[in-house]
Order: sequence, then C-alpha cells, then structure tokens
Amino acid sequence: MHQSHMLIDGEQVISLSRKTEIIYNPSNQEPVAEVAVGSRQDACLALEAAKRAFLIWSATSCQERAIILHSAADLVRKRVDGIAVLLTLEMGKPLRNARMEVLSSADVLDYYAEEGKRNCGEWISSSHSRSIVLRQPVGVAALITPWNFPVDLLAWKVAPALASGCTFVAKPPSLAPLAATEFVRAVIDAGLPAGAANVVHGPGSTVGAELVENPISRKIAFTGETETGRWIMAHAAAHIKRLSLELGGQSPFIVCADSDLQAAAAAAAQRAFSNMGQICISVNRIYVAQEVAEPFTEELVRRAERMKIGDGMQTDVDLGPMFSRMLRERTKEHVADAIEKGAELLTGGEEPVGEAYERGYFYRPTVLDNADHRMMVMREETFGPVAPIMKFKTLDDAIALANDTEYGLAAYVFTNDLKTALSAAERLEAGGIGVNINNVVDLQAPFGGWKESGLGRELGRYGLEAYLETKHIRLGM
Ligand code: NAD
Repeated sequence: MHQSHMLIDGEQVISLSRKTEIIYNPSNQEPVAEVAVGSRQDACLALEAAKRAFLIWSATSCQERAIILHSAADLVRKRVDGIAVLLTLEMGKPLRNARMEVLSSADVLDYYAEEGKRNCGEWISSSHSRSIVLRQPVGVAALITPWNFPVDLLAWKVAPALASGCTFVAKPPSLAPLAATEFVRAVIDAGLPAGAANVVHGPGSTVGAELVENPISRKIAFTGETETGRWIMAHAAAHIKRLSLELGGQSPFIVCADSDLQAAAAAAAQRAFSNMGQICISVNRIYVAQEVAEPFTEELVRRAERMKIGDGMQTDVDLGPMFSRMLRERTKEHVADAIEKGAELLTGGEEPVGEAYERGYFYRPTVLDNADHRMMVMREETFGPVAPIMKFKTLDDAIALANDTEYGLAAYVFTNDLKTALSAAERLEAGGIGVNINNVVDLQAPFGGWKESGLGRELGRYGLEAYLETKHIRLGM
C-alpha cells in the first residue's frame, strides 16, 4: 500500500505522535494508502522551517526562482501517471480528468515562473525627494485546500507564492492528501532550499487552525466551504493576516430564447455533472426562457442519460463516484426536498443499479423541472450532480433570480445577442461570468468570488499580487 509522509524542512517525515490513517477509495471503499496524521506541533515545526527558508528563498532572484519553477513543471509532467492514479484512487474522478488536472498544475508552475519576472516597482519624482516603490514577498504563507481539485487548487497557490519569494506550509484535505503531497514533492525535488515548501497532513480543526492562528504565517490562502472561510477570517484577524478566500458557489445558468440550444444544453450538462457536480463553479440553477424550455430540457435529459458512470480507473467512464457517503446523502436530501415542494424528476434521482456500484458512492445525473427558490437545491450548495430547471418570462426576471443568493462565484448566460450578453454580464453579481461558455477559469485571468463566495483573486497577475506587500522608500534630495 502507498505510504504518504509529510514534507517538513526538506525531509519526508512521519508525525511526532506516529499517528497514521488509512485513505479509502470512494469507488469501492478499498484501502488506498496509509497517511501520516499530524498535529498542531507538526504544523509548528513546518512553520518554523518555512520561516528559516524564507530568508534564503526571498533573497533569490526572480530568474533563479523561474528556473526552479520550470524544472518543477517538467518533473510534474514526468510524474503525471503516478500522481493521477493516486488522485483517482483517493477522490474518485476518472483517470482522464485526473491526468488533465495534474498537467494543468504543471502549466500553472510554468506561468508563474514567468509572471514572477514581471513583479516591477515604481519610481516617483517629487520636488524634494524621490520615491521607490517595492513589491516584496509577504512572508510564510499557509495554503489550505479542498478535496475536489486537490492538485490544481494547490498549484494556484504554490506557484505564485514561490514565484513572489514566499515560502509555504500546505495542508491538503485530510481525506485526499495523496496526489497533492506528491505534487509538492516534485516541486521540492526541482531544487528548492530545504523548508521552502512543506506539507502537513491532518484535520482542519487542529493542523489547519494552527496554520491560521500561529503568528509565523503572514498570509492565508484558503479554498473550501464558506463556513470554514468565515472561521478563518475571524481567527486571522488576531494578527491582521493577509487573506485569499475562495469559497462556495451556487452558480446560475441563464438560457435565453435566442441561444444555440444544443450548445447551451451540452454546456449545462457538462458543467452540472462533471466531477459529479463537486465543483465550486458547477451549474447549480438553470433559468430557461419559457418559449424554449421544452427543447432545451429534452436535450439536457438526453445528455444526462448518456453519461457513463463507473470506477474512475475504467478508461471509458465520464463520471466516477461522489467523494463521500455524506455528500451523496445531502444530494438525496436536496432532491427529495425539491420533489416534495413540487419539482418534477425527469431523470436520475437514484443510485445506479448493479454489482459494480454496490460499494461506491455513485449517483445518477439528475434533472429536475419546475424548480423554485423555496427548494434547497436552488439555495444551498448541493455539491452533487443535480440540474434543477426554472422557466422565466423576461431577462430582468432571470437576472433577479440569478442574483437572489448570498453566493457570487460564477454565473453563465447563453444568448446570440451581444447587447443581451453584455447587459446580463454587467448585472450578474459574480466574480466570473461565462458568456456562451461553461467555464470561467483561465490561467491568465482573475478568478474569485463576490459576496460570500470569497475575498481576493487567484490566477493571472492578480494571483501573484496576493503574495506581495508594498514598500515605499523615500530618498531626500
Ligand atoms: P472544507 O472547508 O471542509 O475544507 C477545506 C480545507 O480546509 C481542508 O483542508 C480542511 O481540512 C481545512 N479546514 C477545515 N476546517 C479548518 C479550520 N478551522 N482551519 C483551517 N483549515 C480548516 O471544504 P471541502 O469540503 O474540502 O471542499 C468543498 C468546498 O470547497 C465547497 O464549498 C466548494 O464550493 C469549495 N470550493 C471552492 C472553490 C473556489 O475556488 N471558490 C474551489 C473548490 C472548492
């Protein structure tokens, strides 16, 4: 069985308490790996190592950092097969998707290797002085990540942190730490000084809390649930720490009467069901113009029923299992609540039948018609493969419904009219708007949430800025 150690001060280590835990495959509940489980003390050791390494790493040039980050990207690509298999075994996604995730994390390393070189200051002339503005690394960063994209979402933090000159302690999700740890191991093997990159495993309530509360960390970059983000924000206040919070979502998808319905249905199906709906920017609520509701809905159902579900290690599956029993139970609860309040179940709404599915957390892609805002699926983050549909009469109605949520991560609109597209995009309250596209993630552009979906931005030049402090040096003349 695979053994996953923590990475502290350049060494692979077990925890001080010697505690370990078994990670199970959500497809069949078979054991996958034994993981070292850390405590607050292990987190402290890692923070201290990162603090020592900060003196060395922050003093390197952006060119030296770029060489190491590019080598790290190459190493991740060389090790893609091993890392991707661990990712599929620990969280269930199809191996094809796991490979894409790992390869995309290598691209993030390459991107920030170069973006780090564009960290420029300013020169300002005044009558009696000259001012130099420096952008310097903030210090030790704590990087805390969820299980749904454990490698990519960590890469979004690791790469800009290192490119800016910060060192870090990462805490991957407790139940899916394997691939993320191997990703950081590749980054370390590329030639980082000991202690510049550390990984501590363990529960959020202890290891995560220590990373947030310990004064050594000057920056917290967190992706996860809004409730956890709220806790982190409150506790980071004790030391006025810098924060990047990428939190939950409840993304609306508006289908206008003039849109390409085939394309809209394909995009909705893919973004509602892929990764079993366990994506922060999943399509959670579909609003369709009433005059085209029927053909759109028929196509969505057809596509939902065509998706092949199975063990992620099989080459021909579109969807793996859900990550946990708890998530599948919540999905069932949300679907039952919707049906009780008047929604019509068009497809799915149950576990697939057969021996292959008996031991995994499988659930069929589900389409609900006649949804409304009294239903949990329309208000809470289901994090399951459910697409509820509600009809609208005017675009104003659709936008008001789309904005009727405390979340604001992503929103989508499908239309062939430029004015409608711009008008909707301007009025939707979200950090990313997809117009005729079902993904608002682009490595070169800012990603993040409005309202209770987050604080700050990742990716693009914004991602680097999140790890920099500003310093003004004034020279008397
Ligand atoms: P979670 O909040 O339960 O856990 C995320 C991480 O935080 C884990 O590593 C966990 O151990 C740690 N943690 C928990 N309590 C902590 C504490 N008190 N202090 C410090 N760390 C703590 O989230 P999850 O269930 O792993 O992930 C799913 C959630 O993540 C969903 O809400 C989803 O929308 C969100 N998400 C958001 C984005 C985004 O970019 N906005 C991307 C992916 C997932």
